[in-house]
Amino acid sequence: MKQLTIISGKGGTGKTTVASNFIKLASNQIAVDCDVDAANLHILLEPEIKKEEEFIGGAVAKVTGDCINCGKCEEACRFDAISDSETDIKIDELRCEGCGVCEYICPTDAIELKAEKQGSSFVSETKFCTLVHARLLPGAENSGLLITRIRNTAEDIAGEKNIKLVIIDGAPGIGCPVISSLNGVDATLIVTEPTLSAISDFKKVYEVAKIFDIKVFACINKFDINLENTKEIEEFCSKNNIEVIGKIPYDDKVALTLSRKKFIVDSKDSEAGLEIINMWENIKEYLYSE
Ligand code: SF4
Ligand code: SF4
Repeated sequence: MKQLTIISGKGGTGKTTVASNFIKLASNQIAVDCDVDAANLHILLEPEIKKEEEFIGGAVAKVTGDCINCGKCEEACRFDAISDSETDIKIDELRCEGCGVCEYICPTDAIELKAEKQGSSFVSETKFCTLVHARLLPGAENSGLLITRIRNTAEDIAGEKNIKLVIIDGAPGIGCPVISSLNGVDATLIVTEPTLSAISDFKKVYEVAKIFDIKVFACINKFDINLENTKEIEEFCSKNNIEVIGKIPYDDKVALTLSRKKFIVDSKDSEAGLEIINMWENIKEYLYSE
C-alpha cells in the first residue's frame, strides 16, 4: 500500500481540485480529508456517512468547586494558564496543557480535569471509494490528533480491504496539522502557483516535507499566469530533486465546473482537466509500484 499526501502550504492553490480529481481517476483507493478545520473534499465527493465517532480532545482544568482564592494553583502552573481575579481564579483553556498539577495542589478540590467533545470523525462511502474525514468544532484544538485518528482509521480499512492506495488531501499551512498529514506517508505532491506568496509557502512546506525523507512531487497550477515565476519554481525543483509532474494552464472552466459540482477531468475541452489526467498518468506508476 502507498500513501500520497497532497499539500500546498498556501490555501487556494488548487490542492483540493487536484486531490478530488486524482481520487476520481484512481482505482483500489481510499481517500482521507485532513483539512479538519474547513473540510471541502466532500463537496465534490458527496459522501454518505456510514459511521460517526465523537472526538474527545485532551483534558483541560476547570474550576468546578469552591475556590478560596489561595493562589496556590496559579503559582504552581508552569504554563501560565491560571490568572488571579478579585474573588477566584481564571483558567485559560487554550494555554492549559492538562498536566493536573493544579487539581492535585488545590486544598479545596475546586479544580477538575475534564475532557470535552472537540469534533467528530466519519467513515463515508462515495461513488469512487471510501472517504475518511472529520470536523473539528469551532474553536476546538488538537487538529493534529484528529488527523492522526482519521489516518489510522483509513490505514486500518486499507489493510482489511487490501486497498493499494491512500490519497490524502493534506491540511493547509505548515504547522502541526501538515506534519500529521505527512507523517508516515510514502510521497507528497505539493501544488503551487507562480505567485510570490505561493512560491514562498511552497519553499516552506517543502522544508517540512524534507523532515520525513519522502518522495516529493510538485505541480504548478495556472503556470501561464507568470512564466518567469514558473521558471523559478522549476529551477528550485530541479536543484532539490523534486519531480514536477505537471503544469496546469489557467482555465476558467475550472471554477465553472467546480460551481456545478463536476470534475474538471470529465470536461473534455478543458486544458486544465487534460493536464490533470496527464499528471495522474505521470505519477500512477510510482503510486501502484510495490
Ligand atoms: S492542568 Fe496544568 S497546565 Fe492546566 S491549568 Fe492546571 S497546572 Fe496549569
Ligand atoms: S488552589 Fe484551589 S482554592 Fe486555591 S486558588 Fe486555586 S482553585 Fe482556588
